Amino acid sequence: NLTDRLDSVFKKLRGHGKLTEENIQDAMREVRVALLEADVNYKVVKEFIAAVTEKAVGREVLSSLSPGQQVIKVVHDELVELLGSHEEPLRLDGRQPVSIMLAGLQGSGKTTTAGKLARMLREKGRKPFLVPADVYRPAAIQQLHVLGEQVGVPVFDSTTEDRPVDIAKRAVAEAEDKGYDTVIIDTAGRLHVDEALMTELKDISRAVPLTEILFVADAMTGQDAVTVADKFNSDLEITGVVLTKIEGDARGGAALSVKKVTGKPIKFVGVGESLDALEVFHPDRAASRILGMGDVLSLIEKAEKVVDQKKARKLARKLQKNTFTLEDFLDQIQQIKKMGNLEQLMDMIPGINKLKQLKDAPKPDERELIKTEAIIRSMTKKERANHKIINASRRQRIAKGSGTTVAEVNRVLKSYTMMLKMMKKFRGKPVVRGGKRRKL
Ligand code: GDP
Ligand code: MG
Repeated sequence: NLTDRLDSVFKKLRGHGKLTEENIQDAMREVRVALLEADVNYKVVKEFIAAVTEKAVGREVLSSLSPGQQVIKVVHDELVELLGSHEEPLRLDGRQPVSIMLAGLQGSGKTTTAGKLARMLREKGRKPFLVPADVYRPAAIQQLHVLGEQVGVPVFDSTTEDRPVDIAKRAVAEAEDKGYDTVIIDTAGRLHVDEALMTELKDISRAVPLTEILFVADAMTGQDAVTVADKFNSDLEITGVVLTKIEGDARGGAALSVKKVTGKPIKFVGVGESLDALEVFHPDRAASRILGMGDVLSLIEKAEKVVDQKKARKLARKLQKNTFTLEDFLDQIQQIKKMGNLEQLMDMIPGINKLKQLKDAPKPDERELIKTEAIIRSMTKKERANHKIINASRRQRIAKGSGTTVAEVNRVLKSYTMMLKMMKKFRGKPVVRGGKRRKL
């Protein structure tokens, strides 16, 4: 699969101390094969490789990153660009109700996506209205009624006798009447693109004002999905794409090609059959996932920005010598605060989720951090250097000074001593961020 292939390409690069034009070329040759094997459109691959090569070759070597890391960074940034660079929200503003039409081939997941979308919007406080406009099979209408019931969203009453365009018009009128704000129109699909279907969809788009025409495609069909998306787009002017079944798509070809080929963004991805299995599409996260590295890249970026390297080294020495004081603890808290949201930071570290599942794993909490900082700041220099002298009366003073309670002071001292214990265990192993980065 693509992730594995790219991983082995970068492993080879990591061995190189210097980034030469030659080893970039070598790496790009393999990236190219990996992308083609992933069923990415060949034109897209060609442009992608050209862009990455150009950026990688001309690049100044940053002292803090290895050549391999630099190329990974360039590939990653280019992947993000390819995937659409930023998240594209649904257009829900303007005159209400807004109407969203789902279109695509048979079996691509339109009806399921209609149900999922209704659920998602309802949870956001909107009032969706599901509209079955696939009149060719009674089962299709029934399917949407079942889904509507499951997600608690009303469904327009249509029959196989109605014309899709009339259904759409009447449904919008009813939504207006009843105060629903988002009309979701589920349409019929065919096995292949055909003119009758296109005419039907065009009629709907002329009859009711649509803020979104979402093309729903089965990611597992790879480049075919992209070809059909392109066809729909030229006939119908779609506004975005929903890629379904991506959890079963190891190759990623459709996801990587569709934006470039159609010019239209992926807005959502379907990640399973259940009704909560719809996600807003994030190009940067998807790129990281494809590169198989969690969000290590943004972690590097953030770390580069704020971690004082000297401090990190000093800290490492202190850990070695076991002279990590409360003062150092305070330093560390400030570093963490500078990096922004702690939870987010934790999420970016690969493998952290396993840690989180442990029952006693410490839960990071920014308010706690601020409190901890206040408590340590209320200690004297002597106390910070030697926590053992902090007796009951000192604890009381510290609590008062920091506007907390003795219990909270105790908790800080306890987590500090626990940290000391943990560090003893890890001593010798690189546990500081500086050490982690070198391993990348
Ligand atoms: P439609 O013909 O386009 O309306 O397609 P349906 O919504 O009826 O879906 C066809 C099949 O694909 C159904 O069995 C769905 O459960 C399944 N399906 C839809 N979306 C997803 C998805 O994201 N992941 C998986 N695994 N199955 C999906
Ligand atoms: Mg359907």
